[in-house]
Amino acid sequence: MKNAVITGGSSGIGLGIAKYFAQHGYNLLINGLEKNGQEIASSIAETYGVTCIFSPANLLIPEEIYQMIALAEEQLGSIQVLINNAGIQFVSPIEEFPDAKWEAILGVNLSSVFYASKAAWKGMKAQGFGRIINITSAHGLRASEFKSAYVAAKHGVTGLTKVLALEGAPFGITCNAICPGYVRTPLVEGQIADQAKAHNMSEEEIIEKVMLKKQAIKSFIAIEDLAALALFLASENSSTMTGVSLPMEGGWTSQ
Ligand code: NAD
Repeated sequence: MKNAVITGGSSGIGLGIAKYFAQHGYNLLINGLEKNGQEIASSIAETYGVTCIFSPANLLIPEEIYQMIALAEEQLGSIQVLINNAGIQFVSPIEEFPDAKWEAILGVNLSSVFYASKAAWKGMKAQGFGRIINITSAHGLRASEFKSAYVAAKHGVTGLTKVLALEGAPFGITCNAICPGYVRTPLVEGQIADQAKAHNMSEEEIIEKVMLKKQAIKSFIAIEDLAALALFLASENSSTMTGVSLPMEGGWTSQ
């Protein structure tokens, strides 16, 4: 059985991972707030000949996360892989950082990882196999100014990844994180504009001087490369790799 749940699977990195997993025979539940999520899921199912269902669960609401996992177990039969990918960003100096944005970023980027993993745990434990893959960020390992909530949440997931690795070890459940550098997705398009405002620079300058400044390799990370790493972490071959945060960030954290 190869069934995976991917939060935020209807946009950006999550969508790229969903297509890659479908191409490799995984049945999927993808989740996200995209209005056309159902159409995206149907198109994946048709293109790759797998089952792909959509859940519009709002990850800020624990009950909806529990329902999403229950739906996957009911419709797919079981969950082997959970990819906690959904995430949001907001960039602002701390003194102006809106409280509501702090709460939302902590909710989506950190707490939803806890709730979804907790909900999928019982089934994974019973089947003696589970792969939890958290898409964190280079910001799960390093900080940047103006990103207090995002950096705090991503570092939180780095810690949670280690705890789930320890707790899952006796049951064949591994938990690892992938830490991308910059990937050109809708989330980053929004950041380019926000950063330009915060730093008082043009968007071109932001890409060159701020965003890719810390990456030794001056290019955006390819979604397919992240998906290939996720597929390895989902496989049997990664059974003794757990609790690690794997950077794919153009050498950023070598500094
Ligand atoms: P994206 O904006 O393209 O996609 C985010 C997804 O999360 C969307 O499907 C959105 O609907 C979903 N989502 C957001 N809030 C939600 C909520 N309350 N309930 C349910 N779904 C919700 O972003 P992306 O760039 O593909 O980012 C995916 C992940 O990768 C995030 O965790 C992000 O922090 C991380 N990441 C991205 C980059 C990058 O450069 N793009 C770099 C490092 C890490």
